[in-house]
Amino acid sequence: MQTNFSAAQLAEPHVADSEKILRKCVHCGFCTATCPTYVTLGNELDSPRGRIYLIKDMLENGRPADKEIVTHIDRCLSCLACMTTCPSGVNYMHLVDHARAHIQETYKRPLLDRMTRAMLAFVLPYPNRFRAALKLAGLGRPFIGLFERLPALKPVAAMLKLAPTSIPPASSLASPGTHAGKGARRGRVAILTGCAQSVLDPAINEATISLLTRLGVEVVVPEGEGCCGALVHHMGREDQALASARRNVDAWTPAIEQGGLDAIIITASGCGTTIKDYGFMLRLDPAYAEKAARVSALAKDVTEYLAALDLPEPVRKPGTVVAYHSACSMQHGQKVTRQPKELLAKAGFVVREPREGHLCCGSAGTYNILQPEISAKLRDRKVKNIEATGAEIVATGNIGCITQIASAAKLPVVHTIKLLDWAYGGPRP
Ligand code: SF4
Ligand code: SF4
Repeated sequence: MQTNFSAAQLAEPHVADSEKILRKCVHCGFCTATCPTYVTLGNELDSPRGRIYLIKDMLENGRPADKEIVTHIDRCLSCLACMTTCPSGVNYMHLVDHARAHIQETYKRPLLDRMTRAMLAFVLPYPNRFRAALKLAGLGRPFIGLFERLPALKPVAAMLKLAPTSIPPASSLASPGTHAGKGARRGRVAILTGCAQSVLDPAINEATISLLTRLGVEVVVPEGEGCCGALVHHMGREDQALASARRNVDAWTPAIEQGGLDAIIITASGCGTTIKDYGFMLRLDPAYAEKAARVSALAKDVTEYLAALDLPEPVRKPGTVVAYHSACSMQHGQKVTRQPKELLAKAGFVVREPREGHLCCGSAGTYNILQPEISAKLRDRKVKNIEATGAEIVATGNIGCITQIASAAKLPVVHTIKLLDWAYGGPRP
């Protein structure tokens, strides 16, 4: 694609990076066929190619975001299916991240939208605040029907519908410290305890730590780590996202430098995609660029790490039929496609893949709150495809997908690691 940025515009590093991305797009439109919003809405401006044109026009003309571009960029799930499909290697992720930051800087949203976004950014990344908010959700539940009838309050209704009615207690295993591996030492890793997942389902990281240590891997829970920054990054809140990235780099760097790490283990693929991008996100910060690139290089989804471990035979062969849902951040963001299915099959599960596996379930961070209608359509389509497999259980590697699919599916939805832990001697999920 031909671009017309001035030399002064290209002196700004974010613009220069986006210009390189734009020039790679050859307008072929292959990406439209696999874009969930284009498939759902049928509007070119809700396709990757349409959004790329809108972003190009906004950046080239150096103008503030307007209602039209905000509408179509807000509808993008950042699922990155377009990056998997694109034959030209267009890095849509970095382009849309830049567009979102530009929108945040230059566009004034309606008051209720601003308040909803500010509240999500204030609550979700902080486990204590999130836990308190979930407890308060019970008070709002009787008003869901009323909120749903008022367009500006639909996100509040969506939030209340997604909030679980009970919250498990916080896990003691997630406290800072070191969990020694049993038997012959096979590695040393740090684990991201994260934010929302540690509140909604602390047993995911418990199963991870338990399985890894049984396999002889030492697991470090470093002091001071927290939310990876993905939730606010996708809302264009660049400063908050970079602050989270720096805090995590600071938390992991001592563990890397004093004793070494083979990997930083991540059990939520949405977080994994972001942490693998820390090197890019902090590339312009001389104090962090190198350390962040080192963290990104060490970041691994737990299934990536386990697949390289040469696991023993499982303790039990469950034989359960499992529908494996590959989260977008797993398959498109991290390109981890083979390992979770192979691990499940090796552990004795019968793995089935739902049709249209490339399409997002509609979770996408805060998307199911901010865009509840499109999200519900994608969720129902996903659940129909999953239920058509005839599986007894759904496995996936991202807490957002677990919450989203479980809100409509008749069968249980669990994290892949819980099934693996069970097969290798852990408790039944
Ligand atoms: S990230 Fe997903 S929703 Fe957004 S343009 Fe690409 S395919 Fe479409
Ligand atoms: S597939 Fe790639 S090159 Fe083709 S229109 Fe989409 S982003 Fe551009």
